[in-house]
Amino acid sequence: MPSAGVLALQGDFEAHRKALAAAGLDAREIRTAGELLSTDALVLPGGESTTMWKLMEGTGIPEAIAELAASGRPVLATCAGAILLSRRITHPDREGLGLLDVTAVRNAYGRQLDSAVVRLTDLDREALGDEPLEAVFIRAPRFRDLGRGVEVLARRDGDAVLVRSGNLIAATFHPELARDGRVHRLFVEAIRRGKPRDAGKLVGAR
Ligand code: GLN
Repeated sequence: MPSAGVLALQGDFEAHRKALAAAGLDAREIRTAGELLSTDALVLPGGESTTMWKLMEGTGIPEAIAELAASGRPVLATCAGAILLSRRITHPDREGLGLLDVTAVRNAYGRQLDSAVVRLTDLDREALGDEPLEAVFIRAPRFRDLGRGVEVLARRDGDAVLVRSGNLIAATFHPELARDGRVHRLFVEAIRRGKPRDAGKLVGAR
């Protein structure tokens, strides 16, 4: 079985490990660029992206994530993790890793809607089936300016909240905190297939 790792610098990496275990995959915690490069698939958890950037500074981890993604290995990124992968980030403005061709608007749902559990019904049926998907949003970003290579798998009130781009899957919500295992199963299936879904497009088009 291929090895999967969860970046464990900050955030809810433990919840991801458990969700992966429920989907039949034994993942390990990753804290260095070397560990990252020796894994076959990667999860970037939710948490606080500004803190993650600080913790990654000078470690080689951002470069290792880019290398892993460019080699076609599956990546699942949720909330803060999805912000890291983005091309651009707002509030404050900065560049992301540029692997996912979207702008991530941080903390995009006003104070009252800061956190919410939403039943998503606007789903890509081929990827997720018919059942509504329970999604936990916590100080979630919004994806904007989606590039052409970015496929939308679920929407909330018209906004893309779960997307796929080649070997990358990114959610603005926290599938690891819901009972529903479908998003993790998509990731595990991609790992089992052993190749990116669209081998001609290893990373999100720029
Ligand atoms: N608001 C956080 C950020 O901007 C993301 C929140 C989360 O991961 N739940 O990094």
